[in-house]
Amino acid sequence: MKALITGGAGFIGSHLSEHLIKHGNKVFILDDLSTGTIENILHLKNHPNFHYTIDTVMNIPVTTKLIEQSDVIFHLAAAVGVKLIVKSPVRTIETNVKGTETILKLAEKKRKKVILTSTSEVYGKSGKVPFTEDSDLVLGPTHKGRWSYACSKAIDEFLALAYWREKGLPVIVTRLFNTAGPRQSGRYGMVLPTFVRQALLDHPITVFGEGTQSRCFTHVSDVANALYQLSQTEASIGRVFNIGSDEEISILELAKKIKHLVGSQSRIDLISYEEAYEEGFEDMPRRVPDISLIKQIIDYHPRNNLNQIIQSVIDYERLSLNFSSKSG
Ligand code: UDP
Repeated sequence: MKALITGGAGFIGSHLSEHLIKHGNKVFILDDLSTGTIENILHLKNHPNFHYTIDTVMNIPVTTKLIEQSDVIFHLAAAVGVKLIVKSPVRTIETNVKGTETILKLAEKKRKKVILTSTSEVYGKSGKVPFTEDSDLVLGPTHKGRWSYACSKAIDEFLALAYWREKGLPVIVTRLFNTAGPRQSGRYGMVLPTFVRQALLDHPITVFGEGTQSRCFTHVSDVANALYQLSQTEASIGRVFNIGSDEEISILELAKKIKHLVGSQSRIDLISYEEAYEEGFEDMPRRVPDISLIKQIIDYHPRNNLNQIIQSVIDYERLSLNFSSKSG
């Protein structure tokens, strides 16, 4: 199979590239390096089945050509990270909505299958966990920037499903829950690499709010495997799938666990949401997926538990800190 991965130089995109190549597929990536990096794909650059184009999805001639060459499109290009979303809402909304609109329109012309990666953010602040794919989405008001991300991704989902219903374009919608692993950057606020780095440096670990909010983390290799398997399964077309794990942990417990696994001397500081993000910031209190649907359709059993996920990030961050201290 020939696959196009938009956002292929991002954290998840680079792991998906690796996974597809390992399974004998040819991969084209398209990335504008807004949040992705060349470092993420350095180890793939010379592989005969890997081709990269540095450009935006919105460049129609370039994207059209790549879609023509591919059998399937994994659309991962999107604004990423709550910090970035709060800081740059225009960019978030435009990237998410225009990008997906462009991909679906061009894919429809060429009749190519699209796997859309959406997010567990779309469930919003609903307290009804675990979230099933047909749960209601409970979003906050439009003057609170955070919800623009969920809302723009929900529009992407509506649009993808509309292309399926109205035009028969094969689409698969996936909602990724908190994904973690090597190469994820803490730059956009992601909690796991941030805590690991703080712990390794013996800096204070910054827990936002009271730390009672909870998340479930999935290793990026399990996510890549799920995306690939779904793309290969006829029964997944026209449907929405949670991709995540149901091992739930509060953020305060996560901080303690990471401190312990690193053997760190760090303090754990509680920082108010206002200070961390913006006035009136609303967090999702719990975010737990129901993963029974994906388990019915593919062989989905996340292979990495939370300790293994954290360990993989510790190993990666240790190496990169050593590297930057030597090269600095
Ligand atoms: N968080 C934190 N300290 C940090 C970064 C994040 O306490 O330095 C919290 C954040 O407020 C949220 C959770 O960790 O409750 C997960 O944040 P992340 O941005 O990784 O993903 P989200 O689940 O919010 O999309």
